[in-house]
Amino acid sequence: MRHTTIVRQALCTGLLALTASVAGRAATPGPLPPATDRQLAREIFKELIEINTTHAHGSTAAAVAIRNRLLAAGFPATDVILVAPPEHPAKGNVVVRLHGKERGQPVLFLGHLDVVEARPEDWTFDPFKLTQKGGWFYGRGAIDMKDGDAAMVESLIRLRREGFQPERDLIVAFTADEEAGGDANGPAFLLKDHRDLVNASLVINLDGGGGAYRTGERAYMEIGTSEKTYLTYTAQTTSPGGHGSLPGPDNAIYRLADALGRLEKFAFPVMLTPTTRASFAARAELPHGPNSADMKAVARTPPDLAAAGRLSRNVYFNAQLHTTCVATLITGGHAENALPQRARATIQCRMLPGDSEEHVRSALVRVLDDPNISLTLDAPPIVSPESAPTTAIMTRAARVVHSMWPGVPLVPTMATGFSDDRQTRNAGIPSYDLSGIWIDADENRAHGRDERVGVREFDESVEYTYRLMKVMSEAD
Ligand SMILES: [Zn+2]
Repeated sequence: MRHTTIVRQALCTGLLALTASVAGRAATPGPLPPATDRQLAREIFKELIEINTTHAHGSTAAAVAIRNRLLAAGFPATDVILVAPPEHPAKGNVVVRLHGKERGQPVLFLGHLDVVEARPEDWTFDPFKLTQKGGWFYGRGAIDMKDGDAAMVESLIRLRREGFQPERDLIVAFTADEEAGGDANGPAFLLKDHRDLVNASLVINLDGGGGAYRTGERAYMEIGTSEKTYLTYTAQTTSPGGHGSLPGPDNAIYRLADALGRLEKFAFPVMLTPTTRASFAARAELPHGPNSADMKAVARTPPDLAAAGRLSRNVYFNAQLHTTCVATLITGGHAENALPQRARATIQCRMLPGDSEEHVRSALVRVLDDPNISLTLDAPPIVSPESAPTTAIMTRAARVVHSMWPGVPLVPTMATGFSDDRQTRNAGIPSYDLSGIWIDADENRAHGRDERVGVREFDESVEYTYRLMKVMSEAD
């Protein structure tokens, strides 16, 4: 989902937005892969972009294309497994294994193959053709995330050609249905029905994280270590109803509206996690960072609540510091001339790692403060525990990042949205987002019109992904 771009937006000021069109191009270039690998990565990227993998089409064709590439490169068929849920044959996944020396549990790299719908009439270019123009590659999935998929396929081929044997098995799963609206999420299916194929002690996902340019410089690199848990409630109330000419004291719409008014004024308590604490501490050190003093103060134990209050005026920082619940849908009544018999609201919550559904529910019941309003959870949450930014993982990530782009600060981040990490974290596997793509701080075209990735940035990410696979498959 490339959720971390939200972070960049929040940090961006109006001034930065004005200069962003030239941003990045001035930064010192990083190393590139050998010319033949660069070319091959671009060919794979083109092939994947031009296979439509929206939910209506599914991911199997793309999975087959990847399998064919790997088989042609000499991977044995027993190590390139194509699997789809029997009831969803179009929602295929392909899982590749490069055998290691069994020094530790495998590492699993993840890349989703599906893309968000794109209507050609909304785009300047055909979204399902790779177009190169003005230093950019355009196409649906250019940044989310066929760029990462292509980089992983090419790196696997390069590693095999070079005879590289990792210390522990290196598994790469290219999967279906990460984006909202899918019905056959690949990682969930693989973890449930093919755990042996994907069992690992570490997940590296290229669907988040990545570098942020600010005013033409490489400002920082994000490493996604956690995300919030998605919870949706329905609040409902009823009243006797009756003729619209005879209103009385019991009215479902007013009762619900009053309760939602109380919710609007409520804030969950400030809560820091190891990730958000480290994230604020790291952001406070960035040059020209606004709110540096407040970020330092909030990163202390215990956090400075006055500083937290000031930071919370920014919607992004507010979401970092609190579990949030907000009304997103409302319905009520049944006729213009009748008193309502029913009113209903959807309340969307995003829960911090470490918070609990019971706590969120009891807070909502207390705040809505009306025994005649029922509260039901729409679907069981997929709890997403934090993968702590341990010294071990941060050190490894820094080795790879700094071999490419020396001196770049690494910032652990908590996404406010969600990705397939919730599946693997919920299955007990620490999972980290480590995309190698750099984009302007205010650029967010994932899911949008004219989605694009810089040509130079794509090429560098191919080299980065190759190095990342080598380092992350070292023994613990
Ligand atoms: Zn994505």
